[in-house]
Amino acid sequence: MNFSDIIGQSSVVNRLKQIIETQRIGHAYLFVGPEGIGKKTIANIFARGIMCNSQGQRPCDLCHSCRQFNSGNHPDVYRVQKGDKSSIGVEQIRKLLEDIHLKPYESDRKVYIIEDAHAMTVQAQNAFLKTLEEPPFFATIILLAEKSNELLPTILSRCQMFRMQRLTREDVCTIIIRHFDISREKAMLFAGLSDGIPGKGLQLAGSQEFHQMRNDVFKFLEGIFDYSDMDKMEQWEFFNQYKDRIDEILDMLVIWFRDILSYKETGDFGLVVNTDKLPVIEKQASLFTIRYIRSIIESIERTRRMLKGNANYQLAIENLLLSI
Ligand SMILES: [Zn+2]
Repeated sequence: MNFSDIIGQSSVVNRLKQIIETQRIGHAYLFVGPEGIGKKTIANIFARGIMCNSQGQRPCDLCHSCRQFNSGNHPDVYRVQKGDKSSIGVEQIRKLLEDIHLKPYESDRKVYIIEDAHAMTVQAQNAFLKTLEEPPFFATIILLAEKSNELLPTILSRCQMFRMQRLTREDVCTIIIRHFDISREKAMLFAGLSDGIPGKGLQLAGSQEFHQMRNDVFKFLEGIFDYSDMDKMEQWEFFNQYKDRIDEILDMLVIWFRDILSYKETGDFGLVVNTDKLPVIEKQASLFTIRYIRSIIESIERTRRMLKGNANYQLAIENLLLSI
């Protein structure tokens, strides 16, 4: 994987390539973006690039340093990961601080990659501050965080920040096709459900469980306006079964009704995500007013907020069902 393999994120990639080319390498970088957006992939290429020994294009993927990096055994690369724990504690950072003052073994530089930097406790962040401001001249620290607001302002101000952008549906589709032997039509469907996050698109495309869940959601959606066939109890059963994955279910419902709305408003399927369900979308669009479809979307979003606020699950879902 090299910069030329990265799809999307062109402004981030161009800035990083320039840093490597000019060899004006800073002490601390921060990559911010949601899980699955590609922070780690890009940070790894960048880190490899600043340690690469090639005189030509960096990273070259051929020199000793690049090969060591790719095998995960580079002695001058240090990673901090959260692992199974919920946070990165002060102990993990203290260990890093002990290491950072030791000279590199083989390279001119040492690179420290803090994955899930947003999960650093406040104590861990505070322990890091001084070193982050003035690390040894050979050290570069790279922080990866899902959200910048979970880091102290004093951490943020010491890092050069790169914000990763959500990708277009086309770009996510291209990435999915690279990884899976599936039709473009199917890949576009997953891309539409990915919210512009390639990691999410890949996960959906590879998940059997997701296929099953999606089928169940459509069974529910196709019967939802046909109350004679499906009583309230059955509908509740469906939601009860997916209690642990309610966020994804609500996502699918919102996307479904947005599909109906966009078809109703524009008269074409151009913006529709669920491209394999066009006849059902057309049928449901003919049954309802735009206002009614909007009110359903609002009800779903309201249910999501209620559940985030720890509302009673059954009560929140029953409210939703009553409003549809
Ligand atoms: Zn190299």
